Amino acid sequence: MAKGCLSIKFHSAAANFCIIPNASVRGNAALVGDARGCCHPLTASGITAAVKDALILRDALCETDLDVSAALRRYARRCGRLELTRRTLAEELREAFLAQTPEALLLRECIFSYWRTSDKARVRSMALLSTVDTSIFSLATQYGTVALQAFRLLPLWFLERTVADWHKGVLRLVYKSLAFRYAAIRQWLY
Ligand SMILES: Cc1cc2nc3c(=O)[nH]c(=O)nc-3n(C[C@H](O)[C@H](O)[C@H](O)COP(=O)(O)OP(=O)(O)OC[C@H]3O[C@@H](n4cnc5c(N)ncnc54)[C@H](O)[C@@H]3O)c2cc1C
Repeated sequence: MAKGCLSIKFHSAAANFCIIPNASVRGNAALVGDARGCCHPLTASGITAAVKDALILRDALCETDLDVSAALRRYARRCGRLELTRRTLAEELREAFLAQTPEALLLRECIFSYWRTSDKARVRSMALLSTVDTSIFSLATQYGTVALQAFRLLPLWFLERTVADWHKGVLRLVYKSLAFRYAAIRQWLY
């Protein structure tokens, strides 16, 4: 007798949110970790960010001799910088690795090509992912270097894909590159 086989497939899904609260401090209270903001989990940076928030708050309190208002202002400023870099990186990686567009494919290939160029490139990326480097300037510079890889990939795209898609992808890389520089300058000014 043939044995029956009951196969049950479970499909589970969870929604992803990028939450940007209006403020990270209110009165004498500071938001820390996910409560202060969260982004796509692709970068797996939630625990790092939460621990870093606590350390930033500790440092701010030490530096201001426990002047809570001054410490919280300092905390809000530093966390804002950290969050902008983290969120921007997460959004870019999400697009590069999940989107199914020619632009995303070009960005993905540029990232791999960049990582293959040298140990230094990989170390710089890890510094951003681990939030050791929290500078939006670093992110903008690395994005520009990643974008330059598109020229190295041009012969491959010419042979295997369409040059029109390559052009579309390059335009998007240039636009994003400029947008990150603009964000970096704005952050530096304020
Ligand atoms: C499936 C999954 C996988 C993840 N993987 C990674 C990963 O690989 N790397 C990484 O860095 N991050 C990862 N994260 C994100 C990471 O878990 C969070 O960013 C991190 O835990 C945030 O820490 P937190 O202290 O801000 O919040 P939480 O860890 O959520 O802590 C909040 C706590 O407050 C408690 N609480 C809530 N409401 C109340 C209340 N009213 N009264 C009392 N207590 C309350 C909750 O029970 C909880 O214990 C993952 C998250 C998920 C969901």
